[in-house]
Order: sequence, then structure tokens, then C-alpha cells
Amino acid sequence: MGDTISNPLMKPWKRGMRPWLLFILLIALVALLIVRDDLRQDAAESGETAVRYLAFEKLGWSPREVFVWRLRLAGLLDSPLGQEWTGAVERASDKPVRVGDQYRTSEFFADDQIEAHVYQVTLERGELLIWQLSRQDMSESRLYASVERHDSDGQGWPNVAYLEADGATKSHVVSSSGDYRIVLQPELFAGVAYSLALAHGGSLPFPVVAASQRDIGSRFGAPRDGGAREHHGVDIFAKRGTPIKAVTDGHVRTGTGGIGGNHVWLSGGLLGLGGARYYYYAHLDSFEIESGDRVKKGEILGYVGNTGNARTTPPHLHFGIYSGGPIDPAPFLKPEPVLPDR
Ligand SMILES: [Zn+2]
Repeated sequence: MGDTISNPLMKPWKRGMRPWLLFILLIALVALLIVRDDLRQDAAESGETAVRYLAFEKLGWSPREVFVWRLRLAGLLDSPLGQEWTGAVERASDKPVRVGDQYRTSEFFADDQIEAHVYQVTLERGELLIWQLSRQDMSESRLYASVERHDSDGQGWPNVAYLEADGATKSHVVSSSGDYRIVLQPELFAGVAYSLALAHGGSLPFPVVAASQRDIGSRFGAPRDGGAREHHGVDIFAKRGTPIKAVTDGHVRTGTGGIGGNHVWLSGGLLGLGGARYYYYAHLDSFEIESGDRVKKGEILGYVGNTGNARTTPPHLHFGIYSGGPIDPAPFLKPEPVLPDR
């Protein structure tokens, strides 16, 4: 019996694959099998689950759209009843409830009426919308709830998120400014009571310690060099030496020249909040990090100064957000949203 290590059959494995790579592949295979097994069990449990899985996961349909599809199959969709149910959202949208920075309500749907409830809110790119939806009744009937964004090209309201009535706080970062609506509707002839809390505000922590929105002295888009160019960020005024923080986990590159003087590019990865890719900090007095470092959200990057073309102005942080082109950082930097108390 030879030693297994000298077995010629082992040689291609030894040469071609490192043990850690094999280990990762094995884990991935086991994980896949577990997931697949779950899916098989789900599908076997009931036909409805399988339909929901296919429609919801694969086609991107909302639970409400699945219900509409079921009305169609039952031959009810074109009936006066079906038409009243599907038209309820547009009827409610004629007189939506307008929502401010914070909102809380408790409402119900009577089982002998066909209605939808619509809450409308205007949001800017970079804001965070948070919500909490819970059921106040004991029935098993379904409540369809979604966040939809007004599509300014068409007349439609595509879904951006679904609300579950589980009482948990959920959120959505706005990647396109405009009108949004929260739509709630129970299935046909269901009596449902619910409570809904909503709030919106900034999605990023403020980049200058102990400063806030009122310290922003020059806004995005303000003219520069006699109108030859526009301001591609916001200027946050603070005392020289005030710490500057990373607004997200990421990777930093520093530079010392040009109009930005001592500056930092923080990259938040491919899927940044609100589609943001890069955060730019300029006119720093000094750095606390080194180019190439990985940083955590809240970590100090450096200190406020007036290097670069800010030599003749009081110390401030120029803060920019880029995703392809520059985006207005102000909505990202609003105070964080807080749900109103009961
Ligand atoms: Zn500036």
C-alpha cells in the first residue's frame, strides 16, 4: 500500500487547486443544496406558494399583482366587482393623504366596502424613507402594501418596495427624486385594521463632528469663477482642526494638490447608498488616515482646514458625492429620520 500523497491521481488536484479554494467550493455547494431543498419543500407545500415564488421572485410581481392575476383566472377581473377593486387605488390617489417628515395613523378597511388608502410624499435623491406597518385585527385576510414612485415619463407608479405588516422598521434609500406613494388595500371583502408610521430624512451621518445642516454655507450648484462653473458639493464651515468622519465603510485615496488641497476620495463600493459611488472631502488641514486604507463608517479621516483654493476663505469642509457626475449631497445630510411616537 503506497502513501496516498504519492498517489499519481492526486497530483492534478494538488497542483491545480489550493485547499482553501476547495473548502470554499464545498461550502458553496452545501449552501446551494440547502437552498434548493428549501425551495423544493416550499413548492411542494402548496401550489399557491409555488405560484407566489415564481411570480414574486422570478417575474418581479407584487403580491397585489398576484391577486389581480387570481381575479382574472376566477373570471372576476372584468366584472363590476373586479373593476371596482382594481380602480380603488386610482380613486384614492385623487385625494391622497399628504405626509410630511413624520406621520403616524391607525385606520381600518370595512369588509363591505371596496377601498384603498394612499399616502403621498415628495422625496429627494439620497433621502431615507423608513416605515413600520402592523395589523390591528386578528383575521387572516391579506393586506397589500407597497411603496411606489411616480414615473415622470409615463403615467405609471412602479413599485420600489413592499411593506410587510410585521411591525418591524424597514427602510428604502431614494435613488430618484420625485413623488412617492404608499398604497394599502386588503383583498376583496376583507375587514382589516392597521397602524402605519412613516418618516423621511438623511441617509448618511453628518461628515463634520458637532456640525449640522445649518453650517452649510455654500450649496450645490452655486456659481463659481464668475459663473464659468458650478459648485459640485456643499461647504460645511467649522473651526480649523474639527474632525471629519467617514460617512460609510469604504476605501480611501488621499491627494495634496489642485483646487481641493489636502483631499480624500472615499469609495463606498459598487452599490452605494442612493446609487452614490464616491465621497469627496477637500481643503483638509491634515489627514488621520493613509491612502489605500480601509475605513469604517464614523472613523476620523482628517481635520477641517483651508488648503487648496480655500486659502483665502475661512476653514471649511467641501463635501461632494459622485455617481457618474456630481449629485447634491444636501438630501443625504438631512437629520436622520425618526418614527413619531404613538
Ligand atoms: Zn466647496
